[in-house]
Amino acid sequence: MKKEGGTMSQETRLNAGNRWILIIVVAIALMFVVASCQREPVAATCSIPEIEDATTVADQSCDAETTEEAVEKTEEQWCEVLTPEQYEILRKKGTERPFSGQYVHHHEDGVYRCAACGNPLFSSEHKFDSGTGWPSFWEQVDPNAVTTRPDHSLGRVRTEVLCAKCGSHLGHVFEDGPNPTGMRYCINSLALEFEGEEGETEASEE
Ligand SMILES: [Zn+2]
Repeated sequence: MKKEGGTMSQETRLNAGNRWILIIVVAIALMFVVASCQREPVAATCSIPEIEDATTVADQSCDAETTEEAVEKTEEQWCEVLTPEQYEILRKKGTERPFSGQYVHHHEDGVYRCAACGNPLFSSEHKFDSGTGWPSFWEQVDPNAVTTRPDHSLGRVRTEVLCAKCGSHLGHVFEDGPNPTGMRYCINSLALEFEGEEGETEASEE
């Protein structure tokens, strides 16, 4: 009797053991699913070999708050679409060396778009030579083109300028610009992409 009882309880213990293994396997599987949805953005470096996984995660609408207008990408994806120099400015708030940018002395008519998402940001109509070494504008092309926020880095209080559509860093705005606004949007060339006015080649063929 005792022996039988002994084997019975051993079997029960075995079954219980199997059940635990099952539970643990399921729990681990669940943890993977949750982890893939809570992916932390990769810190600083730009060395992500595969983008496939990140794309899938983004497509699966993990974050339901995305508005239709906004452009949201993971840092891996920005890494993939931007040059290392652009990534440094746009995503890591870098600043290009003065007079190094291609648009400092650029005077063609057209629109300067966000180099990250293509959002129209500034017009050649509002561009002026500030002498600072960075492309400068006294106004954004549209009241909702850019957003601003306080920047306390480098021991100074400045106002950071960001693309309203994708949140990328563009430069800073100061209140020492020319009329009519008195503002000076000091923008990195690397954050911009110029698009000339089509069909209006200075009307020189008349
Ligand atoms: Zn943008």
